[in-house]
Amino acid sequence: MISRRLCLLTLTPLAAPAQAPQTPALALAMQRARLMREQALASGDQAFGAVVLCGERIVGEAPSRVVTAGDPTAHAEMEAIRDAARRLRSRDLSGCVLVSTSRPCRMCEAAASWARIARMVHGDGLVDAGAPP
Ligand SMILES: [Zn+2]
Repeated sequence: MISRRLCLLTLTPLAAPAQAPQTPALALAMQRARLMREQALASGDQAFGAVVLCGERIVGEAPSRVVTAGDPTAHAEMEAIRDAARRLRSRDLSGCVLVSTSRPCRMCEAAASWARIARMVHGDGLVDAGAPP
């Protein structure tokens, strides 16, 4: 029974990733995330940048600081979430969108979920990764 189920799952075609609707705020946020990625590279860190967008306002942003801070958890997304929480003086980022140059890893997805981030968008194509699990 289990093997039949697995077989059916493997035959199910994968859905193409959805693109987030292109809005000026989202496009600007991705532009800013790319700038954060450039900052990370310029400082000798890993090539990742992220931004937290609330409504039409960027409320958090960061480059990856894994190498420069010597902190394996200092991914750009984690740092952007920390920056947003600090600036807003709230750990509740309900309704905000996490915009990242790359697909967030499981740790960052979990952090986004704890912060109640509503949606994640990543990559140059603004791929919509939906709500964090
Ligand atoms: Zn991560």
